[in-house]
Amino acid sequence: MGMMDSIEKSDADILKAIKNEHKRLNEGVELIPSENVVSKAVLQATGSVFTNKYSEGYPHKRYYGGNEFVDKVEDLAIERAKKLFGAEHVNVQPYSGSPANQAVFFALLNLGDTFMGFDLTAGGHLTHGSKVNFSGKQYNCIPYNVDKKTHLLDYDIIKKQALKTKPKMIISGLTAYPRKIDFMVFQEICDSVGAYHMSDIAHIAGLCATGVHENPVPYTDVVTTTTHKTLRGPRGGMIMCKIRDKFDKDGKKNLAQKIDSAVFPGLQGGPHDHVNAAKAVTFGEALKPEFKGYCKQIVKNAKVLADTLMDEGLELVTGGTDNHLIVISLVNKGLTGKGEDVQDALDEAGITVNKNTIPYEPNTPFNPSGIRLGTPAVTTRGFKESEMKVVGESIAKVIDNLNDDAVITKVKKDILELCKNFPLYPEFKVLS
Ligand SMILES: *Cc1c(COP(=O)(O)O)cnc(C)c1O
Repeated sequence: MGMMDSIEKSDADILKAIKNEHKRLNEGVELIPSENVVSKAVLQATGSVFTNKYSEGYPHKRYYGGNEFVDKVEDLAIERAKKLFGAEHVNVQPYSGSPANQAVFFALLNLGDTFMGFDLTAGGHLTHGSKVNFSGKQYNCIPYNVDKKTHLLDYDIIKKQALKTKPKMIISGLTAYPRKIDFMVFQEICDSVGAYHMSDIAHIAGLCATGVHENPVPYTDVVTTTTHKTLRGPRGGMIMCKIRDKFDKDGKKNLAQKIDSAVFPGLQGGPHDHVNAAKAVTFGEALKPEFKGYCKQIVKNAKVLADTLMDEGLELVTGGTDNHLIVISLVNKGLTGKGEDVQDALDEAGITVNKNTIPYEPNTPFNPSGIRLGTPAVTTRGFKESEMKVVGESIAKVIDNLNDDAVITKVKKDILELCKNFPLYPEFKVLS
């Protein structure tokens, strides 16, 4: 086996898995709201020779030689991200969203410090203080929740909670909250109680970059994100922050320096330069006017999907959506705790979703009572309002006929027909 053999020659097993995955993506409707479909340019950068390089440190201050072109790439990634979000300082090295968040904890808190994060079952992320995550184990998390009736965030209650518990940091951001977040109010609460504000826009970064959702970057202390969700880039993370630290009286170390040293050498080793090259490509794509049109269509598609589901008798958490995601509550269908069964049935019909808790989950996180859906991936693929209507009707049909194989087979056929009109990476002959 030669060193320069292509995968067709060298590894039949993995090649087969790649081909099967390509086929699965091509023949199904991808509704996991944290997923997307990257451009060929992003795939090329991710698969480039930069995967070979070691470049510990930051541009023009590296521990290894040979970083002329890596520096060029990281400089461009930073410059483009600053322009895209209006950021004062950017660190593109975090390996993914979770380590980006971890680095912020390292930079701003001491172990055991108190912070507030959005309750996981109501729409927050594991790294916002879940008991099974470093954030909830090594720090003292006081979770805030949504209102019991409306399932919306109540900022007056969050403020009262903050005044009472005096957190050192409050995290805003969502993983399964289908409504807009008022980041400005979070910043005001943080300023008034003497806390840092970390806003985690992992899910909605694309929407924030294009003004389709309010962008917290210009006024928030620290903003973290992934690059692979609505931003439509490679799997990775990023931190944006103010340069000045509002609590730093003696001016010894500013916020930007604290963040950078927490990422490297505090938490990580060498950056993933191939991924950072792809991040730079992604930010370049997101700066183009077409990307704003794409983000607007994501939200339009989500609204049509939400309306269709409700017309078909399904109940949605908060009664709809104003971002890219939807949470179906299965309770009114008598399917409390049956999220997994619904997820499996939809999978069989060629519709990929994920089971999710609903606020004040009446069952358990392993057998939750909700289904989470999102439109970023299908929107990239070219689905518009009329396709979303078909998808919504198909989902309702499956939920209403969970154990009827004939119905599921029929839906699968419809979905396959729909997908044929939107081929995914058709030029990748070698992989299909
Ligand atoms: C997805 C997500 C993350 C984690 O990103 P990974 O890349 O999976 O580590 C963090 N925060 C929020 C709000 C997310 O939605």
